[in-house]
Amino acid sequence: MAEPARDTYVERRSTQGRKDLTYPEPPEPLAVPVYDNHCHLEIADGDDPLGLDEQLRRAAAVGVAGVVQASGDLVSSRWAVAAAERHANVLAAVAIHPNDAPTFAERGALDDALAEIDALAAHPRVRAVGETGLDFFRTGEEGRPAQFASFEAHIEIAKRHGIAMQIHDRDAHREVLGTLHRVGAPEKTVFHCFSGDADMAREATEMGCFLSFAGNVTFKNAQNLRDALHATPLERILVETDAPFLTPAPFRGRPNAPYLVPLTLRAIASELGVDADELGARVAANTVAVYGEFR
Ligand SMILES: [Zn+2]
Repeated sequence: MAEPARDTYVERRSTQGRKDLTYPEPPEPLAVPVYDNHCHLEIADGDDPLGLDEQLRRAAAVGVAGVVQASGDLVSSRWAVAAAERHANVLAAVAIHPNDAPTFAERGALDDALAEIDALAAHPRVRAVGETGLDFFRTGEEGRPAQFASFEAHIEIAKRHGIAMQIHDRDAHREVLGTLHRVGAPEKTVFHCFSGDADMAREATEMGCFLSFAGNVTFKNAQNLRDALHATPLERILVETDAPFLTPAPFRGRPNAPYLVPLTLRAIASELGVDADELGARVAANTVAVYGEFR
């Protein structure tokens, strides 16, 4: 397949205040392949943005065998489905982001948008609804009714299609867990970029949820995430980049990409005192259990 032209990117990440906008050197390849279960490859970043083909080529070269392309609005959801149609190693997640739900609701467009997400979720390359959830950091009091309504609608869509759900939870731990307890979590629910502590990790995994750890688990100030790791059964751990965001140490601030997953996987293995290859095999099996085979 041809490389999508740069102008097919739907968004450009702000580079303001960031010093080094070059992509980091690739890490040592993993012996056991894993997957990046949450990234946004439609967002161009850095001085010389990588196209989708190059992103996937670099990932495969270091043992990252596939990615789940997450979405936050209709344009990115359609982009994710198209990317997953073209590439065997891309699966799609579709959703209206919790911070966009209030904007859609204000325009009276939320129901139609959710109907389109529901229709896209029927596509065989769409293996998750995501990212959905609650964000009390960026959305104020007035936007919350729309956020809750959208979150519950996405839960229903995931259940109806029997696919996974990727949760975005920012400063809303109690309310996200409360919603899942109240309406019932889809069978395969993933806390994308898990941001809670050990107690929350225990509560979420007891409900059967998976916790996906991103590059911020390597940050100095993220002891809560490392504590959470220790409280998470190995069969509930997933790994992601959330690229182009959350670049793992020692490259914080530079563009992130799926080929940097080995840094985060090795940091998790070393924190847990387990062999990186064994952890990789476990995490890959967890990923396939949630999203199905990448092909
Ligand atoms: Zn994301």
